[in-house]
Amino acid sequence: MLTQIKGLHHVTSLASDARTNNAFFTDTLGLRRVKKTVNFDAPDVYHLYYGDEVGTPGSVMTYFPFPHAARGTAGVGEVGTTRFAIPKGTAPAWVARLAEKGVTDIAQTTIFGATALEFAAPDGDRFALVETDDTRTPWTGNGVGADEAIRGFHSASLRLDPKSADAAKELLGFMGYQKDDTEGSTTRLIVPGGNAANAIDVEAVSAHHARQGAGSVHHIAFAVENRARQLEVREALLDTGYQVTPVIDRDYFWAIYFRIPGGILFEVATNEPGFDRDEDTAHLGEALKLPSQHEHLRARLEKHLQPIEG
Ligand code: ZN
Repeated sequence: MLTQIKGLHHVTSLASDARTNNAFFTDTLGLRRVKKTVNFDAPDVYHLYYGDEVGTPGSVMTYFPFPHAARGTAGVGEVGTTRFAIPKGTAPAWVARLAEKGVTDIAQTTIFGATALEFAAPDGDRFALVETDDTRTPWTGNGVGADEAIRGFHSASLRLDPKSADAAKELLGFMGYQKDDTEGSTTRLIVPGGNAANAIDVEAVSAHHARQGAGSVHHIAFAVENRARQLEVREALLDTGYQVTPVIDRDYFWAIYFRIPGGILFEVATNEPGFDRDEDTAHLGEALKLPSQHEHLRARLEKHLQPIEG
C-alpha cells in the first residue's frame, strides 16, 4: 500500500467559453485565478487555474475552455461531483449569493451527515459546497469574506458502474485510501495523513457511459509531495499493471497519468514547484504565461485567445 498520496491536487474540466468560466469561478465562487496559461498539448486553448491565494494543492480547479464545445452527457466512467469546503452555518449565505449571481438549480442536501448545496456551473458541471470544519485560509480578494469563503476542495465523487466501482475502491486502497463510511451505493474513502481534500466518494451506478464535453471533468489529480515520491508511486502502479505515462513537466508541477477501470483519467501531481515559480504571489494569474516550448507562439496566441477580463 502506498503512503505518498496526500489527497486531491487539482481537478481539470472542459468548458465552452473562457470568459464565462472565469467570471463564474472568480466572481461567483470567489476563487482566485492563480494561473492563465494554455493547454500545453493544444496551445490554442487556455488552461485556467482557480484556487486559494497561491493555488495550494487541494484547492485548484482548472479548465480547458474550448470555444463553443458541445456539452458533455453525464454517465458512468467520470468524476460526478466536485465539492468545495465552506464553513459551518454558511449554506444560507451561499444560497443567497449563488441566487444573486444567477445560479438557478441550487439544491440543499445532506452528504454523509454534512449540509451541502449542489448546483451546476455554466456548462452544467456538477459542484457542491459542503459545510465542514476546515482551518485552511481562504482567498478573500474576490468579494467573499473570510467567514464564508471556499477553503479549497472537500472531496470528489467517482461515478462508476458497479464492477468498476469495486475495482476503483481496490485501487484507492492501494493508493493509501481507507474506507470511511457508506451511504446507499456510495462509499467514502479517506487518506490518513492527507491534506484537507482527503476524501473520495465512489458511487456505484448502473447507467450509460458518460460522453465527454463541456462541463465534464477531464481528469482528477492526486497530490504527492515531490518528484521522488511521484517516482515511487509510478513504479508501484507500473508493477501493479497500470499503464502510466512518463513524468511530464507541467511547469507548476510534474504529472503522471493513468486510466482506471471504468475509464476515469487519474493524474498524480507534485506539490512542487507551485504556481509562484514564474509570477509574484501578488500578481498570480494576471499575465498570460506560456511554457518555453510555446513561447514562440506568443504573438499569435495573444491575438487568438479570447480576452477574459471584464
Ligand atoms: Zn492535471
